[in-house]
Order: sequence, then structure tokens, then C-alpha cells
Amino acid sequence: MGKEKGKSLSAFAVCALSNEKLNRPVVSDYRGQLFNKDAFLEFLLNKEYLKNDKLSHLTSLKDVVELKIKLDQNTLKCELTSAEYDITSATVPKFVYLVPCGCVMSKKALLSLLSSTKVGEYTKARCPICNTEYCSRDVIEIDPDEEELFALERRMKTLETEGLHHSLKARKKRKSVSGEKSAKRSKNKSSKP
Ligand SMILES: [Zn+2]
Repeated sequence: MGKEKGKSLSAFAVCALSNEKLNRPVVSDYRGQLFNKDAFLEFLLNKEYLKNDKLSHLTSLKDVVELKIKLDQNTLKCELTSAEYDITSATVPKFVYLVPCGCVMSKKALLSLLSSTKVGEYTKARCPICNTEYCSRDVIEIDPDEEELFALERRMKTLETEGLHHSLKARKKRKSVSGEKSAKRSKNKSSKP
């Protein structure tokens, strides 16, 4: 549980792939890690995911979402509240982003908008910044704590069973080597009890 304070600061300051200063365009994976897009593209190009178990979930651009993040030098702005935070100080609150649109905002500000309605795991809502529809499941904490990460891992497992990437784009279906014989099976009769 107890994650040291200050950990979240580096999440906004440093690209988790290259350790260079985080600069837009920024992309993020399902675990809420932030990467410089150019570092991520290089990572894909060099197939680095084959060399690092912790990054083996990153094999395609569909495994990340490009963030609409208001990050300018050391200042992070929440577009929802217009509050600005110095990422080198200890005052940065928890931020989240939405999939698929990638809008970034403080978690508290987002939750305050939702508090009047009952939120289930699959509640649909509209992004308060760009109006794109999203599902409450697809709110991703940036630099999550243990509990949040657990929920994010669970979300990813569900997406995999649904044939989706983190970005909600469809996974490529594996080509069937033995042709399409399974497609022409006789129709199931509906079994009524
Ligand atoms: Zn949005």
C-alpha cells in the first residue's frame, strides 16, 4: 500500500522508456505509465518488448493511447479545473486519462462530476473535455498505486477476452492455418429448456 510520496512526480517528469524528460506527444499504456511517443516508436521498431518481460505487453501502437496532456516544461494543467501544478513539487494530485480519447484530468475533478450519478463498472459517460463517450471502466490512473494497478490489470484481462487492445482497438485475429472449416459447421439448434 504505502507508496512513497514523490513517486508520482517522476511519472510526469520522465519518460518511463527512455528516462528522458517527458515531452509531448506522450503516450500511455494500460498501466498508466507515460512514454514519449518517439521513444515508444523506437521501442517498437527495435522490438525491445522481446527483451524485457515487464514491457512485453507493448507490441503495437494499439497498446497505448496518445494523451491530450497539458504539460509544458514543469507545469501540468488540469483542463477541467484549469488548476496548474508544478511537477517538481509535491503538490501534484492524482491524474487520470480516459480511453479512447486520451484526455487528461485530475481524478478528483472527474469524480466530482460523477458523484451525482451512480457509477457502475460499465457506466457510459461523456468526456467532460471533448465529449467523446467513454465507459467508467476505461478511466486510467496515471502512475497507479497498488490497488489501482490491480484494477487496471483486471481491466486488461477483460479486454483481452473481448479481443481488444488497451486503446479499445480490435486485436488482429490469428489466421487459421487449417482454413475455414469451422465456419461451415451446421447451425446450432436453439435449445429451449
Ligand atoms: Zn476527451
